[in-house]
Amino acid sequence: MRASVLRDVHDIVVEDRPVPRPGPHEVLVRVSAVGTCGSDTHYYEHGRLGEFVVREPLVLGHEASGTVVARGSEVSGHEPGTRVSLEPGVPCMACHECRSGRYNLCPDVRFFATPPVDGAFCEYVLLHERFAYPVPEDMSDEAAALVEPLSVAVWACRRARVAPGDRVLITGAGPIGLLAAQTARAFGATEVVVTDVTEHRLLMASELAAADTVNVGERNLSARGYEPNVLLECSGNAGAAAEAVGTLARAGRAVFVGLGGDELTLPISHVQTREIELTGTFRYANTWPTAIALAASGAVELDRLVTHRFGLDRVPEALTLSARDDTAIKAVVRPQE
Ligand SMILES: [Zn+2]
Ligand SMILES: [Zn+2]
Repeated sequence: MRASVLRDVHDIVVEDRPVPRPGPHEVLVRVSAVGTCGSDTHYYEHGRLGEFVVREPLVLGHEASGTVVARGSEVSGHEPGTRVSLEPGVPCMACHECRSGRYNLCPDVRFFATPPVDGAFCEYVLLHERFAYPVPEDMSDEAAALVEPLSVAVWACRRARVAPGDRVLITGAGPIGLLAAQTARAFGATEVVVTDVTEHRLLMASELAAADTVNVGERNLSARGYEPNVLLECSGNAGAAAEAVGTLARAGRAVFVGLGGDELTLPISHVQTREIELTGTFRYANTWPTAIALAASGAVELDRLVTHRFGLDRVPEALTLSARDDTAIKAVVRPQE
């Protein structure tokens, strides 16, 4: 099979590799579509992401869908031909975190495209049967792949306990922000406001879910007098995050979803006197069924986020697209093309 392999910073080549053989509980999936993510771009540009360092050649890509083509000896479901969305992290299922239901915090999780585990920018991948979720027939391959970033949004809304009547502020209208806006509305938020510095992204946010948008490149958010009770921080921008925390209403909840720098200065007296809750999110746990249902029902629109498509030999172009083209939202790699 062909696999797109990151050998070094800015060095990706397509290699021939053997098609892997499924273990007893694994399915072999022919990959149809893989979304590109900021973390893939970060590995391509820097060879590392936080504590994870690329030391061996690595296949990137973790937002994937495909078709089951073979099964291990113990797999009973997943008839060959089943179209699936892949949850790309398989935890140990034995440690304290796994047994407590927060398997996203498992220290021994094997997560696609995180060194040393290969991802899905290739023609075939193996996955534990329980992490390959069948999708409805009318869901596109690309939407099935984008169930992964949608899961990030679902997890963020759960961590923020978004409930009917909530006023939700979302900072950053990239793919995660756009999905968080739609998910918050599906969870019952009655007012969703989205900020960004890019007009066309704000336009898409209004079309998809936002009651109002603020271009924080032009206008001060705090001057607007908006008092959300939930903040989903999806910009990864320290200034935007701090300003947004400062607008939260009493007993508000802030969830940091975006990957940003290591440090952040916050208006701590605002946090203290209003008893603001602050938390982070790391990936997701038990989100696929909800995410698939939200997409299948039309409550969340996934296909509209896809603005660009690339074959397997053009992965570097896909990973650098957003730096070149500010109309890009989500680039998808199609490994069979
Ligand atoms: Zn991602
Ligand atoms: Zn574990």
